[in-house]
Amino acid sequence: MLQTNLPNNELLTPFEKGNGNQTCTYQECIAFYKQLDAQFEEAKLLSYGTTSAGKPIHLLVLSKDKTFEPAQIRKQNKCIYLINNGIHPGEPDGIDASMMLARDVLTKKEMNALLDHAVIIIIPVYNISGMLNRTSYSRANQNGPESYGFRGTAQNYDLNRDFVKCDSYETQTFTEIFRTWQPEIFVDTHVSNGADYQYTMTLIPTQPDKLQPILASYQEKHCCLIYMLP
Ligand SMILES: [Zn+2]
Repeated sequence: MLQTNLPNNELLTPFEKGNGNQTCTYQECIAFYKQLDAQFEEAKLLSYGTTSAGKPIHLLVLSKDKTFEPAQIRKQNKCIYLINNGIHPGEPDGIDASMMLARDVLTKKEMNALLDHAVIIIIPVYNISGMLNRTSYSRANQNGPESYGFRGTAQNYDLNRDFVKCDSYETQTFTEIFRTWQPEIFVDTHVSNGADYQYTMTLIPTQPDKLQPILASYQEKHCCLIYMLP
């Protein structure tokens, strides 16, 4: 078990309590965020819309000024930083890492400084029905964890292919969240599914042929990029 500087190891995530090869369940994840909401004034857990699981999408807002309205936050000239997790629940590292990040921002002084000029908002799990569809056998090339969620939703949508067409309940709810908060920075967490990357983290843009031509040209001329769609 990993140790933190929290009294009695409070607020440890299931990942930290486990053997290093386990990821939380949906219920454990939301219970953890509800605990942060209850325990810390700088945290508020909101919920939006619905999904194919019949459950809303949660959104944790971390705000030093305890301002949880996007319009108010804009007036304070703060940057909004959105992290989306579990679009593919079989790639769960971001789900667990975001729980630890939120806790550390709330409990560690040096991490809390991240909120001086920014508000961090976290979608704990985007593909909820996929996360509830938990087995050990749908990602044969991946080295763990012991069990994990499924890539598709209950309606078998791959949400990473639905941002534009918005066929699914999930995307429609995500669009509401995105338009409400209009983040300056959006991070969508994935895992490589068995591919051996040289680096711990890879920044991946969209393919140029999927962009408006001016934007595609800008990306090609001014950015050094790797093209792939995980
Ligand atoms: Zn993925």
